[in-house]
Amino acid sequence: MELALFNTLTRSKDPFKPIAPPKVGLYTCGPTVYNYLHVGNYRTYVFEDVLRRTLEFLGFDVLHVMNITDVGHLTSQADEGEDKMEVGAAREGKTAWEIADFYTKTFVEDSKLLNLIPPKVLCKATDHVPEQIDLVKRLEAKGFTYSTSDGVYFDTSKFPAYGKLVSSEHTFISFVGGLKAGARVEVNPEKRNPTDFALWKFSPKGTKRQMEWPSPWGVGFPGWHIECSAMAMKYLGETFDIHCGGVDHIPIHHTNEIAQTEGATGKPFAKWWMHGEFLLMNNAKMAKSAGGFIRLQDLQEKGYDPLDYRYLCFQAHYRKQLDFSLAALDAAKSGLKSLRDRAQLIARESKPARTKDVEALLDRFKEAISDDLNMPQALSVVSEAVKKLPAEGQHAFLLEADKVLGLRLIPEGAQELAPEVVKLLNERLSARKNKDFAAADALRKMLADKGILIEDTKDGQRWKRK
Ligand code: AMP
Ligand code: ZN
Repeated sequence: MELALFNTLTRSKDPFKPIAPPKVGLYTCGPTVYNYLHVGNYRTYVFEDVLRRTLEFLGFDVLHVMNITDVGHLTSQADEGEDKMEVGAAREGKTAWEIADFYTKTFVEDSKLLNLIPPKVLCKATDHVPEQIDLVKRLEAKGFTYSTSDGVYFDTSKFPAYGKLVSSEHTFISFVGGLKAGARVEVNPEKRNPTDFALWKFSPKGTKRQMEWPSPWGVGFPGWHIECSAMAMKYLGETFDIHCGGVDHIPIHHTNEIAQTEGATGKPFAKWWMHGEFLLMNNAKMAKSAGGFIRLQDLQEKGYDPLDYRYLCFQAHYRKQLDFSLAALDAAKSGLKSLRDRAQLIARESKPARTKDVEALLDRFKEAISDDLNMPQALSVVSEAVKKLPAEGQHAFLLEADKVLGLRLIPEGAQELAPEVVKLLNERLSARKNKDFAAADALRKMLADKGILIEDTKDGQRWKRK
């Protein structure tokens, strides 16, 4: 069975062939760390996590790189307005560096709660300013750039394939189309073409920015798009396999990344471009600017597990919009709870056995994820496995499927308890049976020292790792 992935560039679901199998280079655009992320952002990161897990499940060796945008993303898409980091700093009375540090940490913490596998390289724009300057120099040497009073710009008319990622279905968010029609944003009169974008912005005269660097063109800071090109090339090479983001990145950010990278190298940048659709709330894209956005912490305060949200994301294909509501989250929560209760019961009571029936269902699970990450279909195979297989088979199936689902269905290492831990657990069981609570408590402490936490429930003694 072949993995097929939808490629925004070819507008079709194509058989996936990496450049140098089994290695796969994967670049996913990371967050701008000026505020908390909302669950809409995390829908995109969950989709990318499923992609990475699927590739690894199918035997690929994935080098996953993600950037952290900690400078240069301006409040307007037209390279105007303030730097989002400085806006965050003014809002909270902190420095831009403190803001970046704080929201990078909250992103990393949230990612753990969602069980997102950490990228192998998590790289900050501010740590790669020399690489960005070098890339602008390369573009300058090839005649793609010009200077205005506020920065160095990329001349999009010099790159004939400009906008090749954008198709008519993206026109509802099409910056390119909007600007050509002159409708969406004010056009900087110094730009040669409305679609030209900043590679380097000068610090405004007479002001000292918190984040600024010297460059051959003057003191300033990099434009937003250049960081991804510079860092992707540094860690993955000039041409690599897959580049991802949310659909809003198609018309501007990714379009500009392609223009500046392919302009500089003369080679294709990423072979596959994959984009996750929006999470909607009240029929509109969930967005920080629209107010009313929901953070993961808001859900936790309401008593949800972040993995309830992860499970909700699997209810729709990643290329379809998904409506967020608490009713939908409640349904996801109860679906996940029944699956998890079942998984934990069979993990306690059975050893996994990979029978022919298990293999057949795992093949169908693989078929679903190989069909452009069809998670709704994959979940329906999971339901079938839970209905049809005996406990040992379910155990084996769920252990495998959860490598992609990432729902922590079976307590980690359920099968790998050290013999001395098993002995202590059994001793505690008998101590409780004999109502020797002092001994049971002492055993609880000994187990805690070994990283095993005990909970006494009406169904008996349960354990989990710390
Ligand atoms: P940003 O920090 O704005 O660059 O956004 C981080 C990621 O979240 C990007 O890949 C965006 O495309 C994605 N994103 C933003 N809003 C949504 C949404 N409502 N639904 C899904 N993804 C989103
Ligand atoms: Zn990017």
